[in-house]
Amino acid sequence: MVPALRYIRGACGPALGGFPGGFSSAGRPAPGRSWPLCQGGRPASTRSFDVVVIGGGIVGLASARALILRHPALSIGVLEKEKDLAIHQTGHNSGVIHSGIYYKPESLKAKLCVQGAALIYEYCKQKGISYKQCGKLIVAVEQEEIPRLQALYERGRQNGVQGLRLIQQEDIKKKEPYCRGLMAIDCPYTGIVDYRQVALSFAKDFQEAGGFVLTNFEVKDIELAKENPSRSKDGMKYPIVIRNTKGEEVQCQYVVTCAGLYSDRISELSGCNPDPRIVPFRGDYLILKPEKCYLVKGNIYPVPDSRFPFLGVHFTPRMDGSIWLGPNAVLAFKREGYRPFDFSARDIMDVIIKSGLIKLVFQNFSYGVNEMYKACFLSATVKHLQKFIPEITVSDILRGPAGVRAQALDRDGNLVEDFVFDGGVGDIGNRILHVRNAPSPAATSSLAISGMIADEVQQRFKL
Ligand SMILES: Cc1cc2nc3c(=O)[nH]c(=O)nc-3n(C[C@H](O)[C@H](O)[C@H](O)COP(=O)(O)OP(=O)(O)OC[C@H]3O[C@@H](n4cnc5c(N)ncnc54)[C@H](O)[C@@H]3O)c2cc1C
Repeated sequence: MVPALRYIRGACGPALGGFPGGFSSAGRPAPGRSWPLCQGGRPASTRSFDVVVIGGGIVGLASARALILRHPALSIGVLEKEKDLAIHQTGHNSGVIHSGIYYKPESLKAKLCVQGAALIYEYCKQKGISYKQCGKLIVAVEQEEIPRLQALYERGRQNGVQGLRLIQQEDIKKKEPYCRGLMAIDCPYTGIVDYRQVALSFAKDFQEAGGFVLTNFEVKDIELAKENPSRSKDGMKYPIVIRNTKGEEVQCQYVVTCAGLYSDRISELSGCNPDPRIVPFRGDYLILKPEKCYLVKGNIYPVPDSRFPFLGVHFTPRMDGSIWLGPNAVLAFKREGYRPFDFSARDIMDVIIKSGLIKLVFQNFSYGVNEMYKACFLSATVKHLQKFIPEITVSDILRGPAGVRAQALDRDGNLVEDFVFDGGVGDIGNRILHVRNAPSPAATSSLAISGMIADEVQQRFKL
């Protein structure tokens, strides 16, 4: 059973004023220009939709797909600011199909991950998308980690994760001959997949069912239209106006936002609750040189530090046969800053002034410094990795890509653990559903999340 959506009842104030002059026809592309439209099958006006989904990552695309499959008569559009879909978190992650072991029993993360993993495996089988159910070991390398490992095992069983076993040194060696450890959780249900490929397949399903995807459409304003039927043949059927950075508009009845690293900004610009704020955490990966890939068979993870939502630097096989080591977790100075020196003054000021970041930093100063140190010095990361695979040396690894996590942080400096879906009040807020916090394992959970969003949209907007 999917639990009820968790709402933060928003600070969504009174309806924002309409734009001067009432209904505008400026939403149509200028003569001779067409929307950058990955076209769907529906010949309707491309500027008016029953439902618009903002964000073409895996959560937005899965949600749009679920909505159109359930309501084939509705016109549904996805708005994505980039020219390609799924290139941010969805295209920069570990690619692990998580089993659901880590998350607090009864939380949305626990339920939607267990359910989502089964759905992803099923979907990949149906669509012929390659995946590997290569399993995972969570390995305790210090005596003091063993109680935490055992507690994690119990949690996984409570969450209904299939096939979990606690194993000792000799069985660790059978699974991972080069890995040392005192005790481990063997989790055979964990797998790997390319989530961008999955997301693009969701987009294809959506378009084949009649949905529209508009790329290069960076949402800048979400407003309530003023009625002026003489200038709009749709009258007030589509009362929400969404404008992009180029001044182009689409109109719609209802909006679902799945904007990942920008979810707080999109919520704020619709007049809804700006909290929780998104704090970007960069995760750098290292890559094992091809001649050393034999050292790792499946996923090898550390026992996580329960103070943080990150799972710790791990060894992860990729669908192309390579092995990635990482990601670490360092504060990023830009929301989509994939390089260490990428910087945005606005992003930094936002997290310093508007979020509880300062408190978080003070509370976890040594952890933060340690992560920064390891990010700068390869030898420090290698020392950590050697606790698991002593054979690894600095000369066996190369620097790899990075991802940036959208981590929600409340005003008191607490990292928001669970998925958060947020409605609002007021004329716009009543027509919007925001996905506010969808960090890992939201890629694994995407199909389960989309089912829940489709239920909520149907109920809330009376579709
Ligand atoms: C380093 C790392 C490792 C991870 N590992 C895993 C893993 O192994 N397994 C797992 O299940 N999950 C993992 N995750 C988490 C997973 O990748 C994310 O939870 C998931 O991709 C979130 O999808 P999304 O659609 O919400 O966000 P995104 O993929 O970031 O998509 C949001 C989209 O919104 C668009 N957008 C933003 N603002 C606007 C705007 N104003 N107008 C229009 N469009 C806009 C963006 O361009 C983007 O395409 C990892 C994440 C990271 C960063």
